[in-house]
Amino acid sequence: MSETIFEKIIKKEIPAHIVYEDDEVLAFLDITQVTKGHTLVIPKEHVATIFDYSDELAATVFSRVPKIARALQRAFPEMVGLNILNNNGEQAYQSVFHSHLHLIPRYGATDDFGLKWGTNNDHYTAEDLKALAETIRAAHEEA
Ligand code: AMP
Repeated sequence: MSETIFEKIIKKEIPAHIVYEDDEVLAFLDITQVTKGHTLVIPKEHVATIFDYSDELAATVFSRVPKIARALQRAFPEMVGLNILNNNGEQAYQSVFHSHLHLIPRYGATDDFGLKWGTNNDHYTAEDLKALAETIRAAHEEA
């Protein structure tokens, strides 16, 4: 595993604007600040993507998210919402391969966050959806 920039932040080898830290989880401001307060939440243990988490590590990391989200809300009362984003793989826009959750405070329709959300209902029949769900359930049970 080659070290990512986030390992250097965890080890305090390079600076970051830390907003939350405990023994297992670190949260710091994303340098791009898509919107004011844009924060990254990371496990200190190295996992590259969501596919690599143990149940325990997932529980640890996600359990901190509401607390950090509420801190953002209290810090910025003008916030009207929060997007939580987790990119996995280059095609999914992941650029740092130490898993992280983006917490992106929202301030209105004209803040600088955007997301294209396709609507493809027409391409799937109820039968198609049933088959897809069955495929996923079977894959889960085999894992
Ligand atoms: P992703 O594209 O989902 O992998 O997101 C990686 C994020 O890490 C980007 O939004 C970058 O702006 C952010 N980032 C990269 N280097 C640093 C750094 N040194 N400090 C804070 N954020 C960083």
